[in-house]
This record gives sequence, C-alpha cells and structure tokens, in this order.
Amino acid sequence: MVKHQMKIITVPNLPKTCSSIDISFVNKEQVHYYYNLLKDVVQQHNCLGLALPQLGIDKQGFFIAQTQTLYLNTYLLTIDGIVESVEGCLSIPNHLYKVKRHTTISLDGYYYDGNNIRKLDYLIFDMPLSFVVQHEHDHLHGISIDQIGQLHDNKS
Ligand SMILES: [Zn+2]
Repeated sequence: MVKHQMKIITVPNLPKTCSSIDISFVNKEQVHYYYNLLKDVVQQHNCLGLALPQLGIDKQGFFIAQTQTLYLNTYLLTIDGIVESVEGCLSIPNHLYKVKRHTTISLDGYYYDGNNIRKLDYLIFDMPLSFVVQHEHDHLHGISIDQIGQLHDNKS
C-alpha cells in the first residue's frame, strides 16, 4: 500500500475557497488518488475525518473515517436541532473548541467508496457523524473551528 507523507496545513494558511472536482468518468483516476491520499493520512493520524484543503489541495473533497468514504462537491442542508460539540482539528494542533452543530443534516453532491462514484441524493446523517460531516464540509469553505467556536482547552 502506498503511504503518503503529507504536511498538514494549519490555520491561518488553509485555502479559503475550493473548486469543485470534475467527477466525469475521465477523471476517476484523480478521484481515486484523492481517496487513497485522504484515507492514508486519516489512518496515520487516527482522526475522524480530513478535507483536501488541509493537505493544501483547494478542491471540494473530504474523507470520513467511519464510513471510509470520500465526499465530493458537497451541498449541505441543516435539518434539525442545535447542540454543542467539542472538537479538535489536525489544522489546529493541541486545542479543542466548543462548536454549535446541527444534530441532523442531509448531504447532496457525490461520494466515492473506492470503487464507484455515486450521487449522494440528500443522504441523512445523525449525530455524532453529522458533526464530523459539518466540520469537514466547513473546511471546503475556509471555515475552521477557531472561527466559529470557543476555545475549550482547560476544561477537560
Ligand atoms: Zn478540521
């Protein structure tokens, strides 16, 4: 298996905007590369998820460890509830933040499971997985938890 040694981009140097990924059949090799790359780095850091901009790639893609899936060109709808979530981020080492998150969301766009690219079709996520999806989706728009949350370091 290929191991990628990638430098994690930290705040405030994360890309502010990300362009969508060409998900046409021709570009499947590129999507597969992103999939393996994110999967490797997530495994190396044992984290819940990772977005391409955190590796300095300004493309709309993020990987979620629990589903082992790459999500592409995502569009997020909030459905229900707001609660407080305590989160860390590889791009903000050694800090935790309290962030307000929606309990239930739905996600449109595309996903890649390592074999096929498919439409998400407003797939519903409940917490705690919905928190991870919101966190990673935010990265695609230059939003990180230091901007939307409160530092929560000395309360563990
Ligand atoms: Zn993050």
